Amino acid sequence: MKESIVSLTRKLIEFKTVEKPRINAAAEFCCEWLAGHGVHAKIIENEGLKNVVAFIGESGPTVVLNGHLDVVPAGPDQFIPYVAEGKLYGRGSFDMLGAVSVMMHVTASLSTRSLPCKVMLALVPDEETGGQKGSKFLVDHGLRGDVVICGETTNLDIAVQAKGVLQLRVETEGIAAHGSRPWLGDNAILNAFEAYEKIKSLPVFQESTSYFEQPSLNLARIEAGKAINQVPDCCTMDLDIRYLPGQNPEAIRTEIARVVNGTVKVLGQGAPVQTNPAHPLIVQLQKSAEKVLRREVCFFGQDGAADTRFYAEHGIPAVEFGPMGANHHGKNEYVDISSLLAFKQILEAYIVGDSVPQKAASN
Ligand SMILES: [Zn+2]
Repeated sequence: MKESIVSLTRKLIEFKTVEKPRINAAAEFCCEWLAGHGVHAKIIENEGLKNVVAFIGESGPTVVLNGHLDVVPAGPDQFIPYVAEGKLYGRGSFDMLGAVSVMMHVTASLSTRSLPCKVMLALVPDEETGGQKGSKFLVDHGLRGDVVICGETTNLDIAVQAKGVLQLRVETEGIAAHGSRPWLGDNAILNAFEAYEKIKSLPVFQESTSYFEQPSLNLARIEAGKAINQVPDCCTMDLDIRYLPGQNPEAIRTEIARVVNGTVKVLGQGAPVQTNPAHPLIVQLQKSAEKVLRREVCFFGQDGAADTRFYAEHGIPAVEFGPMGANHHGKNEYVDISSLLAFKQILEAYIVGDSVPQKAASN
């Protein structure tokens, strides 16, 4: 089993699923792999991108296993996977082709069993670029389920919350003048800098919750200045804000507009995730994980957004839950191979709904 999970993950890494043709080729491959393992899967294409969807089980609640096939760009060497000291290295090994491989194996291995629930496997093509053509499209078309597990990089703890996204463009103005006489003008860059300092110290950015120490504010882009010998008369500043579940994005925007001498425009927005950890289907997942891992499995909040948000918007309990590893989106990304096996055991125990075989997770 270990060899099969690793070899499928390696194969997926080698697809180099950064751009559309490679992602689609990987989706086709996954469909064929599933067919070869007794699972009928279908391709659902949206705006040229292919999703893979497969169902097993006859009745009961639907557990959605959601995995994204796309990865973030990397140098060519990172698409040559290798194994060292129990770790599988390569772009996407951790985020999240290892989890995809496990989810495919789980679907295949349970396809001939009688289950107390249904399972929908959803392999999507664009989580790293916003998820609109994959998970959002599937959710909008009714492919939702009753509980959702996105196999993200959670080190086998369970992320029940995720911050919301609010991306703003702040435009400040000034008065142009000759660069040799700045006292005759009003420098828009300096005005923007002053505005940023005021925004940063707004009470809304000092708040915390039991899951998060604070929201975040990233000054991501700044554009201003036409000539070296001129006082700039306008400056645009793009802010990437990740707000806490419970905070109101419109109130944040209003507060910012109040301290900025200029305009504030919304560039992008995404709702936070606030899954109730006491939901019976989430408690059951925690119990399955604790039985396999023989340790406490924690609930926590993720700073970044994931495809869970599309399901959460419809009130469906959605969590991020995936294997152990490190360096996703960076150099030397790897997934811990024994955690892939544990992840498989946990998902199977959860879906089958009975006690976990008393085998060590590292088998
Ligand atoms: Zn991911």
